[in-house]
Amino acid sequence: MKIIADTHCHTTASTHAYSSLEEMVKAAQKKNLYAIAITDHGRLMPGAPGQWYFENLRIIPKKIDGVRVIKGIEANVCDYDGNLDVEDSSLGYLEWVIASMHEITLEPICDIDACTAAWLNVAKNPYVDVIGHSGVKAFKFDYEKVIPEFGRYGKLVEINNNSFIIRKSGIENCKKIAQICKKHGVRIVVNSDAHFSSQVGIFDNAISLLKEIDFPEDLVVNSDIDRFKSYLKSRPKTALIHNKN
Ligand SMILES: [Zn+2]
Ligand SMILES: [Zn+2]
Repeated sequence: MKIIADTHCHTTASTHAYSSLEEMVKAAQKKNLYAIAITDHGRLMPGAPGQWYFENLRIIPKKIDGVRVIKGIEANVCDYDGNLDVEDSSLGYLEWVIASMHEITLEPICDIDACTAAWLNVAKNPYVDVIGHSGVKAFKFDYEKVIPEFGRYGKLVEINNNSFIIRKSGIENCKKIAQICKKHGVRIVVNSDAHFSSQVGIFDNAISLLKEIDFPEDLVVNSDIDRFKSYLKSRPKTALIHNKN
């Protein structure tokens, strides 16, 4: 399986990542990726950029050095009602919205029912594309109940390569999540969650997991250019107007 787009990457704008947007795009080009999504953290993450950073991403060319640059965000799920730390008006400017739970921006109460309720509401948010690294142990939810709903609302479930390195306690959950996606035909994306340019396009752990469970490739949205482009076309139009560069 070849992944053609890395749709979860951070830049220096997140302030705990260490490569510029241009360096990340150049790394994507070196790895022969069709696209990279720039998804810096929503405002509740310490040091994260503000609303104007995300709304002004429209000044970045649609393609740089032949790589399609997708303007996105990794928004924080900031309460157990499933609200995000970004206004709908800003989300309307973006082409790619990941919703993630982080222990630093959402108090981990280790309550499966509360996490289930939160994710069921995130599933209904029309701006959200991707459910980010949802295998985190502290935010375990009822996978059998929620994952089919992610599918019903067209959300993509992320298998995050970085989780195998920095969120090891959730690896077994990632496997279960992938198995339940397979069972219910729910589409996924494989991402690096790179915080430095050398991590762009690194998906080895995630791909091994998918191989291990014989995950069907046609459910991996970013493993084929046409499949990926047709997903982008199918999402609601953003207010983002690209310049002609
Ligand atoms: Zn994250
Ligand atoms: Zn991230």
